[in-house]
Amino acid sequence: MKKHVVIVGGGFGGLKAAKVLSQYPELVDVTLIDKRNYHLFQPLLYQVATAGLSPADIAMPIRNVLSDAKNVTVYLDEVKAVHPENNSLEVTSVAAKYDYLILACGASHSYFGKDHWEEFAPGLKTLEMATEIRRRILMAFESAEKVADMNIQKEWLTFVIVGAGPTGVEMAGAISEIAKQTMEADFRNISTAHTRVILIEAGKKVLGSFNETLSSNALIDLKKLGVEVMLDTRVTDINSSGVTFSGPDGREEVILSRTVVWAAGVKPSSINSTLNVPLDRAGRIIVSKKLSLEKFPNLFIIGDQSHFEEDGGNVLPGLAPVAIQMGTHAAKNIIRLIKNEAALDFKYTDKGQMATIGRKLAVMEFKGIKARGMFAWLAWLLVHIYYLIGFKNRLFVLMQWTWSYLTFSRGARLITKRDWKDT
Ligand SMILES: Cc1cc2nc3c(=O)[nH]c(=O)nc-3n(C[C@H](O)[C@H](O)[C@H](O)COP(=O)(O)OP(=O)(O)OC[C@H]3O[C@@H](n4cnc5c(N)ncnc54)[C@H](O)[C@@H]3O)c2cc1C
Repeated sequence: MKKHVVIVGGGFGGLKAAKVLSQYPELVDVTLIDKRNYHLFQPLLYQVATAGLSPADIAMPIRNVLSDAKNVTVYLDEVKAVHPENNSLEVTSVAAKYDYLILACGASHSYFGKDHWEEFAPGLKTLEMATEIRRRILMAFESAEKVADMNIQKEWLTFVIVGAGPTGVEMAGAISEIAKQTMEADFRNISTAHTRVILIEAGKKVLGSFNETLSSNALIDLKKLGVEVMLDTRVTDINSSGVTFSGPDGREEVILSRTVVWAAGVKPSSINSTLNVPLDRAGRIIVSKKLSLEKFPNLFIIGDQSHFEEDGGNVLPGLAPVAIQMGTHAAKNIIRLIKNEAALDFKYTDKGQMATIGRKLAVMEFKGIKARGMFAWLAWLLVHIYYLIGFKNRLFVLMQWTWSYLTFSRGARLITKRDWKDT
């Protein structure tokens, strides 16, 4: 008899698992549940937040992606809890049963216990957040154009990004370019040369996970773009007037700013705490080498939701290639178990890492090769287009980028309302 596999999450990991399992219609029926109806290409969210791309360019309906996978049924629903002891999960209000379960719910933002900061400093995780950040950035320029008081204008033209990982660096570079290259021609009452883009990082370097040379190169490139980088600096408060921080000398200071973006911390899905299984300090579920749980070998956890330790003690980072490879492996292990074969250990093939700093500027590491500048930027562009799902998305994105590159324009400069109700 066919086994029922439930996958929660149609992100990088869950979607890949569904595709692999779709090749075994004689062995499994698959149900994929996601609280959104689309797969989101998160690495390009910052392009939506900075008006380079439109939301539809980086998202694709999950149904559409899996329309040829006849043994896969997709439900738009939210899983509230998992009960591994009786192979069931709570989906909004009903309970559903499974033979095998793959949890691939990803992660969300952590404000390190200061959740009230979110209102003043949204993070970049969903399309809604990206369009809200886009609205705030564009409104800041519009507001600065209207005010006569130079001090208030300065506050509108001061942008603070908290966290100098790849997302923070990409956001800082892109906002600086918008201010200096795109907006210059379109505004009359503000000199966008007065824009300040400030990147605050608690650690001692930008792009903390990259090697020392590339991290220093990224710092140089950010400075070239006019970004003010504050290292070894901790944010102690965020409110409607700006950011309070404590620098390397321990003194508290305030930056007056109307636009703050949070790119500092992530926390895994809240489902994790419903399972009653061991979690790491960050709240991720600690998985075995097989990507499942010792106690529940039919329950697999992959991607950002999981804590996987390689031989030697390295814990895999929250990256798309990690989630994709785990998705393939978990699906194959389920097929092996159904065939009464032993599940295999997961081995990650390192795909390197890359980050853009601006138009023509990027850094990358791949199998010991380190590159920066135009070459790294072209590699970044090709990799991101290659992994975008759907031919139409790839073509549109390539066309948009070519156009933006040649004209410095940012075509998606739409200020959409925060409230969905029409007034
Ligand atoms: C702004 C940003 C930039 C990034 N840039 C890069 C990059 O350049 N390179 C890179 O490799 N990685 C990057 N990442 C990280 C990468 O996107 C993640 O590692 C990857 O998405 C993890 O895949 P996943 O399948 O674990 O989860 P996700 O892709 O996050 O998918 C989780 C899915 O689960 C669904 N879901 C969550 N909870 C529930 C629930 N309770 N019920 C039903 N459905 C649920 C969500 O709707 C979502 O579709 C970036 C992430 C962000 C936020």
